[in-house]
Amino acid sequence: GALGVGLYTPDDPLVVLSADTLERSIFNSSSAWVVEFYASWCGHCIHFAPTWKALANDIQDWRPAVTLGVLDCAEASNQKICSDFGITGYPTLKFFKAFSTKPEDGVRLHHKGDDIRSLTESIITSIESHRDLWPPACPPLEPISAAELHDFFHTNNVTYLALIFEKEDSFLGREVTLDLLQFENIAVRRVVKSNEELVRSFNITTFPSGVLLVKNGSCSSIPVHVDSRPLYTDFLKKLPGVVRGDTFTPTVLPPVPPTTPAPWKVIDRRKLYMADVESAVLYTLRREATRYDFLEKEQLSAMKQYVAVLVKYFPGRLPIMNYLRNLDFWLRPKTNVSKSEWEEALRNKNELPNAWLPENPTWVGCQGSKRGFPCGLWTLFHLLTVQEALLSPQPHTPPEVLPTMRGYVHYFFGCRQCADHFEAMAAESMNKVRNKDGSILWLWSRHNRVNARLAGTASEDPKFPKIQWPPKDLCWSCQITINGRLMWDERAILRFFKSHFSRGNIYLDFLK
Ligand code: FAD
Repeated sequence: GALGVGLYTPDDPLVVLSADTLERSIFNSSSAWVVEFYASWCGHCIHFAPTWKALANDIQDWRPAVTLGVLDCAEASNQKICSDFGITGYPTLKFFKAFSTKPEDGVRLHHKGDDIRSLTESIITSIESHRDLWPPACPPLEPISAAELHDFFHTNNVTYLALIFEKEDSFLGREVTLDLLQFENIAVRRVVKSNEELVRSFNITTFPSGVLLVKNGSCSSIPVHVDSRPLYTDFLKKLPGVVRGDTFTPTVLPPVPPTTPAPWKVIDRRKLYMADVESAVLYTLRREATRYDFLEKEQLSAMKQYVAVLVKYFPGRLPIMNYLRNLDFWLRPKTNVSKSEWEEALRNKNELPNAWLPENPTWVGCQGSKRGFPCGLWTLFHLLTVQEALLSPQPHTPPEVLPTMRGYVHYFFGCRQCADHFEAMAAESMNKVRNKDGSILWLWSRHNRVNARLAGTASEDPKFPKIQWPPKDLCWSCQITINGRLMWDERAILRFFKSHFSRGNIYLDFLK
């Protein structure tokens, strides 16, 4: 789509879901599901994708007890389903028990850290929360009791039983149990340290340690003396007669519609494109604000303020401005707006032929695999801070645009960690901004701070490196060298911003 391709491919051992396949896949499924709802433009989602892929590789043998999925909420066709599932920030990880039937059955996956270990542990804890409808493919994860062990080989048709003796808070036994679930002729159970009867009868003194029982009555210790899941798993998988079961059929992968990236547009970096800022406006109103069932209180005030600022300072085409004026007029007196009222208000109304807003974004200066909306949002707010300074009869009165942006980002920006970072910067110094020129400089320098933090990381599009902006070829006089040190000349920056973000520098190319 216009936002580029998602962050995952069908080669990753997870299911790439879409609006058509999400409910069919996870509802009434005999597998539990963990779904990452993400937005392909969200920097934290981009940074998190390698972890989610590595996790998918790490636990691919846990299917079909639990299956990993991903859904790109930035795809226009997925917008409604993400809203139905109550997704308000990205990424959101949700766990669905086997045989779930409705979106509300999904619960947030709580995890201590963003590392694979915390995630696998939290998935295990979630699987254990199944009460009645245990996923049929999932072996028991609770510790074995002496009584159960006594008739184990009578009640289970396997050659081997591996016992993993471990402390209560260790996940090793359960991980190895799940690692072996697709394998025949073997069962794995954990024994906890507090089960003194079993610990004593096997003479166990170190934890973890393993014992292998064979149906014919023999018993030996598992020659792994460290707390290492791969060593246990490899040893058990290589036992004679232990083979991957052919009863396991991988989850049928629903077809992924081919996403063709939009054709590359030749652009001029010295220009702004109306398509980008208009697209940012429509994305905020049509996509971001519609994620909520209700707009009220501070969130509604933030939206009112945002729309009012657009009406005042957005240098848009006439029909877009008419549309924004109508929306502002309708919104002003409201104390509470439901999602359906909001969607109704946003519809392009035929009776107002000269008032409309495009339905879908077109990114031009902001084109690229990991760009689109956040790039458009920065550009829009830089443009607004400059327009405020140029249009305002009193340049020395307190600025409006900057606090409006703070409110928008805080209440609506879907990349929640980005919003938290931005709020931290705002809380630290935004109140020191006294006038409109100060706003321009504040936003310029904070944007550069974000660029510096993100330079060289996974969210960087190689075609658009995160540089300290503006580069010399855009503004030669903005950078000065004093005693060999590169410095910025703020007066030159202001002059450059007031021409770069001026009406006259906006190209209307590629508009629909
Ligand atoms: P962007 O940084 O989006 O910039 C868009 C365009 O603005 C550039 O192409 C350039 O022409 C121009 N520009 C660049 N620097 C400046 C400047 N200093 N002043 C004026 N114009 C400039 N991503 C994360 O991974 N982590 C975060 O914490 C994070 N926080 C964010 C906070 C906010 C409020 C926003 C809007 C976005 C945030 N992002 C974050 C996203 C990230 O900043 C980029 O927007 C995204 O990675 C796309 O990058 P880009 O290459 O399009 O350039």
